[in-house]
Amino acid sequence: MSENLYDTVVRGGTVLDHASGLNQVADLAIKDGKVAAIGDDLARSAANVVDATGATVLPGLVEGHTHIFEKVSKVGAPQDEAHLRRGVVAAADAGTAGASTFPAFRTLVVEPTVMRIVNFLNVSVLGLIDFRYGELLNPDTFNVDDALATAAENPDVVRGFKIRLSEDVLGDKIVPLLEKAINLGEQAGLPVMVHIGETALTLPEILDRLRPGDIIAHCYTGKENGILDENGAVLREVYKARERGVMYDSAHGKSNMSFKVAKPAIAEGFLPDILSSDTSGRNWRGPVFDLVTSMSKFLALGVPMSEILPRVTTVPAKYLGLDVEGYGSLTVGGPAHVTVLKEVGATVLPDAAGNTIEAPRLEPTAVFVNGVSHELTEWRGNAPSA
Ligand SMILES: [Zn+2]
Repeated sequence: MSENLYDTVVRGGTVLDHASGLNQVADLAIKDGKVAAIGDDLARSAANVVDATGATVLPGLVEGHTHIFEKVSKVGAPQDEAHLRRGVVAAADAGTAGASTFPAFRTLVVEPTVMRIVNFLNVSVLGLIDFRYGELLNPDTFNVDDALATAAENPDVVRGFKIRLSEDVLGDKIVPLLEKAINLGEQAGLPVMVHIGETALTLPEILDRLRPGDIIAHCYTGKENGILDENGAVLREVYKARERGVMYDSAHGKSNMSFKVAKPAIAEGFLPDILSSDTSGRNWRGPVFDLVTSMSKFLALGVPMSEILPRVTTVPAKYLGLDVEGYGSLTVGGPAHVTVLKEVGATVLPDAAGNTIEAPRLEPTAVFVNGVSHELTEWRGNAPSA
């Protein structure tokens, strides 16, 4: 046997990659931070072997919607503990920072973190700092010049804007502020993420105003004015908006994922474009926990892994412009961002309304960023609830 050809080999897992269509039991070899080979019998020439027998080897997971601005925002979850150490290698913060708080977000969250972090900049300069006080109740906090300048100065991080369409966030100025947000997106050439579920505006009235590429967060919300009609079918307007390029993000969150909405919608074939957790400081100890727990819930709702995979890898990576950096896929020669998941048996999991479902729970067993293995943390559902 010669010198070790590889730094690490992840041995014997089922390697799944949506971009290439790869789905086979194989070894995945890492050398100098890159995927060096995918094939048989690679472990013999490895310095370090990680056994993945019975597990699934995926591109590193991309979290399309979360809140990570700990210590500054009351909704900020710890970026490493709740994400990287639960198998996530890249994440988009959904409006926790606004233009005035962005410099702190960049310094405290983006720069010191191993994960690749981008964001949807809150249209309010304040950002979502304290959920008790709506960030747009003073509409002057929606400062277009500041938002445009922050986006222009930080193109590596700002990938869109976020507006929370809730009456407790923006009072009764729903339509003018939504239209102002869309105009801002148009001027900046960036998408707008719209959080729905807590205004008198119907979903079709919101969808009418969105452009291709804009994205609805919380598509399975159980609150009023969601995606279902009075007969429990998905509104025609929801499909029509999708046909012209409007996106849907599941964004579980503390109060925005209802199995009662998700079940019939999924049964008729309505899946989110992006499967995200909307993890925050208010839910990372339950009922959301993390992205893999949200994936487990979709498995329990009857969505096969082949449909879950693109929604946590290729689609969010492309949407966030991270595909060009090698996120969301496993390519020989590309960066070794890898997540290994194992099913650990049935667990009863709650939605945001307290309904439960028995799910084959997924658990990360290894995560690599640029070929470097990071320590994992135990599922918080095993801990006494906080
Ligand atoms: Zn959110």
